[in-house]
Formats: sequence, structure tokens, C-alpha cells
Amino acid sequence: MKVDFLIVGAGFAGCTLAERITAQFDKKVLLVETRDHIGGNTYDYYNEDGILIQKYGPHIFHTNLKDVWDYLCRFTEWNGYVHRVIAVVRGKEVYLPVNLDTMERLYDRKFTSEELEEYFEQHRVKLDKIRNSRDVVVSQVGEELYDLFFKNYTKKQWGVYPDELDPEVTKRLPVRFNRDTRYFTDAYQGIPKYGFTRMFRRMIDNKNIHLLLKTDYREIIDSVEYNKLIYTGPIDYYFDYMFGKLPYRSLDFKFETLDREQYQHAGVVNYPNDYDYTRITEFKHFYFQQHRKTTICYEYPMAEGDPYYPIPKPECREIYRKYRKEADKLRSVYFIGRLAQYKYLNMDQVVSGALKLFEGLI
Ligand code: FAD
Ligand code: UDP
Repeated sequence: MKVDFLIVGAGFAGCTLAERITAQFDKKVLLVETRDHIGGNTYDYYNEDGILIQKYGPHIFHTNLKDVWDYLCRFTEWNGYVHRVIAVVRGKEVYLPVNLDTMERLYDRKFTSEELEEYFEQHRVKLDKIRNSRDVVVSQVGEELYDLFFKNYTKKQWGVYPDELDPEVTKRLPVRFNRDTRYFTDAYQGIPKYGFTRMFRRMIDNKNIHLLLKTDYREIIDSVEYNKLIYTGPIDYYFDYMFGKLPYRSLDFKFETLDREQYQHAGVVNYPNDYDYTRITEFKHFYFQQHRKTTICYEYPMAEGDPYYPIPKPECREIYRKYRKEADKLRSVYFIGRLAQYKYLNMDQVVSGALKLFEGLI
């Protein structure tokens, strides 16, 4: 087989590039994917009860990047879903990120924005330098809220306490002095109206894209003639683990379908201090699906298994840097996406990176 581009991985990175290349040029793309479906980790499908679920945990699109949003709007409408997350702490259901409502419920008292600022000013730990994910939290809200919301959740999620992780992990959650209970405040957010998978199908619906599922690229690479390779799989695998395996945090998803219309009060409910799972997702909230049953998903973090989260620790970044150096030596091979860049990237960052790479390619 002869193609212009061999693209490894049919997630956001791979599909965006396949789409761009074939929409703009008369080029042939072979898109190879190990799994039996497209969409990468955002794959959604109707389960045996007819409920639309996400196979790899809760995925909500959100971005402030207008070019990324406009780009994806070519392939889907959005359903207007606004993500809200509840955390169960001290037996109470409170919204995350921490905001006025959270604090009032937790402490059974009223706060004004000014009073809350003053409260945190009194309780926060004054630090000269933010060195890790614990510092991020205690320097904003103090030890008590750190213990309630972050310490144990992070230990479950990452296998280590926040003081061993780079600041970027807990920096993902802001602290609010108003009553905005949304999880994300980005200008654009939602879920594709008919699901992520349908959006991906439209993206790669081009006669010049040949999709090969259930195939590791190594099985076919010797029988394909190509000019350029775009690789969105794990970078250490590409180089045969020559500098050792890059560690990932994995997840085990346990699904349950219940004979009731609704299970919980939000799409995602976090359990920082109880149980072995971190959170429960109920997909009907995401898709506004009417159904007499509902499917929920428990998320159990694991050390081994499919690679989901690159681990943001200095020693892991050091290993990645070695692989990156090797990657930079290669001509006509491009590494992009969460696994190839070994970075905790959101969907919009991946699409943005892919669009930029495309601009570079042309
Ligand atoms: P992937 O989606 O991982 O796609 C890479 C593809 O390459 C995979 O399908 C894989 O099977 C394939 N592949 C790998 N190796 C090979 C090989 N050797 N041969 C062939 N194919 C191969 N982001 C958000 O913006 N919002 C969210 O709410 C959100 N929630 C998340 C929740 C969880 C539990 C996780 C794990 C991630 C979440 N993310 C979220 C991040 C989001 O999943 C990623 O940003 C996005 O999926 C990355 O796309 P990608 O194309 O880089 O990687
Ligand atoms: N986090 C936490 N408690 C929570 C929610 C999040 O300690 O209830 C921490 C945890 O370390 C997590 C990080 O904040 O990995 C980022 O949270 P986010 O919801 O962005 O994680 P993701 O959806 O990417 O798993």
C-alpha cells in the first residue's frame, strides 16, 4: 500500500490531522488504530440497554480557543451541557471547585465574597514558592480544605500524595469567591449533540482516508510506503522502551445499569475520602437522554493497565526528555497527543496542537 501519510491512533490528534490533510490536499492517509473503534479515549456508544455511555470515563469538551471550537463545529452541533461536579465530604454533597456555596454548606454559615477572601487569607499557608500540588492548595485555602478535598482523592488517583506531584495537577481546579458552581468556566463547552463518536465519524468521512482498526501500526508498517508518519501512541513504545518505560496511571471502569431513571444529582460525584473508587459518573446527565434505566461508572485508579494519565513528576519528565531528544532527530516523523507528548492535555489542547502541526506541515 502506498500513502502520503501514515497516522497512528484515531483519537483527537490522529483524526484532526487526517481530516485536515485530506480536506485541504489531494493526499492519501492510512489511519491505523489498535482498538476496535475510533475516537480514542472519548469514544462513546450505546450499551446493551440502549444508554449512551463513554467507555473510558467522563469526557466533557471545554475550551477558550475559538479556532478549536469553530473547527469542531464543522462536524457537530453541541448539546449545551454544563458540567457540575459534586464532592461528598463529611456526609454532605457540595460543589467543586470550592466556591461560596461549597463553603456555606460545609460550615453551615453564610459568607459574602469579601468574608470568604478574608477567611482564606487567615487560613492559607503562606509560602515563598509553590513546589508541588500540595503547595498549590494549602497556599490558597489552607490545610483543612486540603485534607477534605485533595489529600486522599489525589492519593487514590495518583498513588501518591499531592506533595509528590507537580503543581499543574491541582492547579486545574480554581477557587471561587462567587456562586459559580460550574466545573469549567470556558467560553465554549458541552458534549457533541449525537456523541463524540458520531463527530469523529464525520471528521474522517473522506475517500482518501483509509481506516484500519484492531491493528498495531507495527503489524503493517513494513508493508506500507509512506512519506510522513504522524504518531499519537505512547512515545516510549515507538522507541522500544530504550530509556525504560514511562509510567502511567491507569483506570479500571466498572459499569452498572440500574432499574431507575436517575442515580445521582450531577454527572460526576467525587468521593475524596471514602471507597476505593474516586468518582461515579452517570452518563444520562451528559446526554440528556430519556430512558427508564440509567448506567453509572465507578472509576478505580490503578498502577498497571491501559495508559491514561502521564504522571506529572520531575523524574518522569526526565525520562520523557530523553525520548523527545530521539524524536527530534527523526525527519518526517511527528509526535503529537497525550501519549506521544507524555503530557496531561485536555481535548482542546490536543486539537489545537494538531491544527498547529498541520500548519507547520504545509
Ligand atoms: P487518545 O485519545 O489516547 O488516542 C490515541 C489513540 O492511539 C488511541 O485510540 C490508541 O488506541 C491509539 N494507539 C496507541 N498506540 C497505538 C499503536 N501502536 N498502533 C495503533 N494505534 C495506537 N479532556 C478534556 O478536555 N475534558 C475531559 O473531561 C477529559 N476527561 C478525561 C477523563 C479521563 C478518564 C481521561 C483518561 C482523560 C480525559 N481527558 C479529558 C483527556 C482526553 O482524553 C485527551 O485529551 C484526548 O483523548 C487525547 O487525544 P489523543 O488523540 O492525544 O489520545
Ligand atoms: N482533585 C482532588 N479532589 C477532587 C477532584 C480533583 O484532589 O475532588 C485533584 C486530583 O489530584 C486530580 C486533579 O485535582 O487529579 C485534577 O482534577 P480533574 O478533575 O481535572 O481531573 P481529571 O478529570 O483530569 O481526572
